[in-house]
Amino acid sequence: MALQVYNTLTRKKELFEPIHQGRVGIYVCGPTVYGPTHIGHAKSYVSFDVIVRYLRYIYGERNVLYVQNLTDVGHILDSGEDRVLKGARRDRVQPMEVVERYTRSYFQDMDALRVQRPNISPRASAHIIEQIELIKQLLARGHAYAVDGNVYFSVQSDPDYGKLSGQKIAMLQDAVRIEADPKKRHPADFHLWRKAAPEHILRWPSPWGEGYPGWHVECSVMSTKYLGQPFDIHGGGLENRFPHHESEIAQSECAYDVPFAKYWLHNNMVTQRGEEMHRSAGNAFDLQDLFKQHEPLVIRFFILGSHYRSPLDFDEEALAAAKSGLERLHTGVRAVRNRMASSARDGGLDDAWEQKIAQTRAKFVAEMDDDFNTATAIAVLFEFTKDVNTLLAGGTPSLLTLQAIDGLYRELGEQILGIIPDSVGQDEGAGLGKPLVEMLLTARQDLRNAKQYALADRIRDDLAKLGVIVEDGPNGSTWRLA
Ligand SMILES: [Zn+2]
Repeated sequence: MALQVYNTLTRKKELFEPIHQGRVGIYVCGPTVYGPTHIGHAKSYVSFDVIVRYLRYIYGERNVLYVQNLTDVGHILDSGEDRVLKGARRDRVQPMEVVERYTRSYFQDMDALRVQRPNISPRASAHIIEQIELIKQLLARGHAYAVDGNVYFSVQSDPDYGKLSGQKIAMLQDAVRIEADPKKRHPADFHLWRKAAPEHILRWPSPWGEGYPGWHVECSVMSTKYLGQPFDIHGGGLENRFPHHESEIAQSECAYDVPFAKYWLHNNMVTQRGEEMHRSAGNAFDLQDLFKQHEPLVIRFFILGSHYRSPLDFDEEALAAAKSGLERLHTGVRAVRNRMASSARDGGLDDAWEQKIAQTRAKFVAEMDDDFNTATAIAVLFEFTKDVNTLLAGGTPSLLTLQAIDGLYRELGEQILGIIPDSVGQDEGAGLGKPLVEMLLTARQDLRNAKQYALADRIRDDLAKLGVIVEDGPNGSTWRLA
């Protein structure tokens, strides 16, 4: 089997085939950096982190280009307020200071969740020129109109408008929030460029006067600038399917008559007792608060325990269950690693285990190939761990067998899922390990001074087998972990 993904655009699971063989471009809508990150961000970016990690597993680390923007201008709230300016007023600082503050805290929180950073994190405010170019192109092609310093996209000029979300223009009349904006030709028309009110600080000159771009424009521009048009995967939250993503498609395809993105992947939201979580409802948990009670890795594991397209119901009981589940997995890994360092026997890789490892990998990959089903892939790791525990309880496996088991944990559990850090198994004995190594090296130096080189070499070689590399230099010996 090969990778199948659920494509929102076609409403079915499809075989994933990159546009350019062997290379994948993926764009995911990033955060609007005007406030602290919350659990909704965690679900979205942990989900896409594993999607990107899995694509890299298939296509190679350097053949997947991951672009995720930072919205620092133009994201307007339903109340008509600019989010960044709202944050600036709240924190009593300059808008760009707000952007810096929350960009940093966003990356810090994502680092804690072990989310790998995107290859490119372009900012909307750094791509104003390109956004103006796109708007000019849409005006020239009759898909947009300018009124009094504003430019609007005309949804009626695009027969495809609605293809992602399934909304029909005729029905949009009622579906969209009716703004009292008499300048629009159709209520669903949206801003490409907004005229800046006198008090609006974030503003740029344009052919239509001073203003700033509409939110949807930045994603059309920054995705294709770095990935080309068309590109492979556009991801984002389900709540942004309409109007944000629908409008991105309309802008890019009407401007250049070229398809925009081939696959649309949408992750679902976080709920609490079945209700959508909202900052305004007071139940949007900020990650900094959550991290005080729960290890970030437990939150990551909890998120991956359900499918990215399913809603994640957030409650303390489920989190506690995730914590003990992760601990069970880590206990298995720790036991393997400790055994490798202590009582493994010589000998080859056990045939039955070689087979079991291959089967486990195949099962895990089959689950991930099924639209990145992390929940069932994790179940495969648990099943494997049960057998590993039986093995360790019943005998003395060879070092090669243990290394192969550990290798599989690293490959599936860490490289793809990011839930088994190298530090697992290095924690116990760490306090004892260092003085013991130092003691052995002192004894070894004494042997060398006494010209007992064969014994000294044996200590060095035995340490190497345990992963401790000893290097002799003019100023004595130093050591490091392999
Ligand atoms: Zn976007």
